[in-house]
Amino acid sequence: MLSGCQQASQTAALEAPALATLQKPQPPKIVVRPTPKPTPTPDPHKIPAWAQGRVLNDVPVKPGDKVFALTFDDGPWPVYTRQILRILKEHDVRATFFMVGSVVRAYPKIAREVKAAGHAIGSHSWSHASRPRNAVAEIQRTNLALREIGVRNTMFRPPYGLLKNGMARQALKEKQAVFIWSADSNDWRKPGARRIANSVLNQATPGGIALLHDGGGAREGTVAALPRILSKLKERGYRLVTLPELLSRRYIAPPKPRKSKKPAPKKAPMPTTFKPGMSQSNSPKPSVPQFRAPQPSAPTQKPTALPPTSIGRVASPKPASTQPVLTPEPIAAAVPTAAR
Ligand SMILES: [Zn+2]
Repeated sequence: MLSGCQQASQTAALEAPALATLQKPQPPKIVVRPTPKPTPTPDPHKIPAWAQGRVLNDVPVKPGDKVFALTFDDGPWPVYTRQILRILKEHDVRATFFMVGSVVRAYPKIAREVKAAGHAIGSHSWSHASRPRNAVAEIQRTNLALREIGVRNTMFRPPYGLLKNGMARQALKEKQAVFIWSADSNDWRKPGARRIANSVLNQATPGGIALLHDGGGAREGTVAALPRILSKLKERGYRLVTLPELLSRRYIAPPKPRKSKKPAPKKAPMPTTFKPGMSQSNSPKPSVPQFRAPQPSAPTQKPTALPPTSIGRVASPKPASTQPVLTPEPIAAAVPTAAR
């Protein structure tokens, strides 16, 4: 016989499933999973903090790190820029293009093609002037023109490598890295493809930067030299990178331990810190601009005899529709440094 309590508990047990079915059906739990954030694409033009506001001829890299950067100035230019893009693509190589702001405005489509191909783009001033009337505007207008093609500019290559006409100062003030070069192709002299290639190859060093031109005049020689440059550098074990990538490879060797033959006297301990003026063998090389005096194209011409205005501007490209293949510009031939 069941006690009252046992009966009650049995009844409750029997009723429990029934009660459960009477309860309102719970809606299925919706598990809200956080949508994964899209991985932000790294900005290919971002440069490290140490390089911002610095003038650089090359970048110190770890011994054995055979990285090298090709740079092309004075474009974007009809015909030649696209030919260079095609060759770089065939070799699966990225380079850096320093573009003239006014030319970017003239040929934004070519500039966009350079960016779309994964190359880095920097500023080469607005008008390629050696003595700009408004250095600040030269920098800022070019930044804007590059912004219009989707580039947040971080790099400047001064025309002719000139650092004292106000433009480099403005670029440094805007925390841009100012790049000179360590391997000059001298392609603006039009010495022929083989000599252009050899100039680059003979000066190639790990962490180095080569100066070439895709615009500013006839560049058939540069285009013809490029496959040899790329093949030979690859043979030598070089990896070609953009300038922001090169900056990311910077390496400063740790200071070597001091070798002292005699034990240091107790009352005169060795200094543990460097004082200003003391040499530090492992410091990065000082950024010394590599000025190169304008070279005459004809023996009778002397750079000093040139009127100041004659070296002021890069030769303006003609519209592609009227002149698809450019002939050598008279100004570029008469004033070779106009190409830089
Ligand atoms: Zn130039």
